[in-house]
Amino acid sequence: MKKILVLNSGSSSLKFQLFLDEESVASGLVEQIGEKISNAQLKFADKKIEKKEELKNHEEALKIVSLMLKEAGFLNEFSELNAVGHRVVHGGEDFIKATKIDNSNIEKLESISSLAPLHNPANIAGIKTILNLAPNVINVAVFDTAFHQTMPEYAYRYAIADEFYTKDSIRRYGFHGTSHEYVSQKAAEFLGVKQLNAISAHLGNGASISAIKDGKCVDTSMGLTPLEGLIMGTRCGDIDGGALFFMARKHNLSIDELDKICNKKSGMLALCGANDMRDIEDNMQKGDEKSKLAFEMFCYRITKYIGSYLAVTPASALIFTAGIGENDNLVREKVCENLSHLGFEIDKEKNNIRSKEIRNIATSNSKYAILVIPTNEELSIAKQTMAFC
Ligand code: AMP
Repeated sequence: MKKILVLNSGSSSLKFQLFLDEESVASGLVEQIGEKISNAQLKFADKKIEKKEELKNHEEALKIVSLMLKEAGFLNEFSELNAVGHRVVHGGEDFIKATKIDNSNIEKLESISSLAPLHNPANIAGIKTILNLAPNVINVAVFDTAFHQTMPEYAYRYAIADEFYTKDSIRRYGFHGTSHEYVSQKAAEFLGVKQLNAISAHLGNGASISAIKDGKCVDTSMGLTPLEGLIMGTRCGDIDGGALFFMARKHNLSIDELDKICNKKSGMLALCGANDMRDIEDNMQKGDEKSKLAFEMFCYRITKYIGSYLAVTPASALIFTAGIGENDNLVREKVCENLSHLGFEIDKEKNNIRSKEIRNIATSNSKYAILVIPTNEELSIAKQTMAFC
């Protein structure tokens, strides 16, 4: 039996899950790393272990994780693990698939941190800590960008001078790749096809859409950063670059202020004051016009992307996944209603059933399968990591 720890390290947090082969047996979270009091939590079966103490950095946080896993009886020390799978946000153009990271290539990984300065350094801190605490354990980096590396150049390039690409690596990369890949594999199994042609919509607080042709990504809505594309909880998605220049000049905004506005203070939050779709739909029920408009805009942007991706892939299925995609029947219904003239026909009864199972919510007349597939990025990272053991 293989013991795999999956780590998702953020700048001040650490999410983890322990797998015994493909079974998740424990999961937890360390928060407020670097602050006076950090909170650590481990959940397994119906039990919970909690700790509160000062954890200065990721190394101290991981030591607490090790201690909690010991207390729960899973392992005495990290060296008993077969491998650790690390979620790494950006793989640039060098890392096109899950990669074993050791002292021979960690510098190469560090060299692309400038592409995701808020995320990659924290991910790398997790890898370095494991290399330090348990040198015998295999470390595998699984990249959010990797699945999208099959996009053709005409899809991933921006129409700006060559040197911005050749020297600065500015191009579209796409994110949520682990999720798009996972659900597209599940869809292929479910539909019994070898080469999937589909459109997958990962709709959570962050949201992106991918066009999948013969099982490979040919286009995706996020770009150099996760800002491009759909309207999200707090991100604006597609916007005229000129509007940003205008805003900056008019309000004398710095680049950092603009960055914060677009990433943290825009999207659904800016449109209607809430970024959780459950709150937005409650407010719609109460007659709030701003929430209704925000909902329309959210679904319209998704509809437009699906339309454009139908033009570049011979899709026969639409996949909904992530928090909103899996749970929000109103969004699914609205998007499919917008697409009804193209032959999408949703079965309202099936759409309203809540379930954790993969399901087709299209009617038998629908030209396209409409699938709801729960994503599981941690399991996908565990499986990709296990392949190195
Ligand atoms: P994720 O980023 O995939 O964890 O998704 C989080 C988002 O999913 C939340 O912000 C909510 O907008 C949405 N969500 C979660 N559960 C539901 C639900 N039952 N109905 C509607 N939206 C939901």
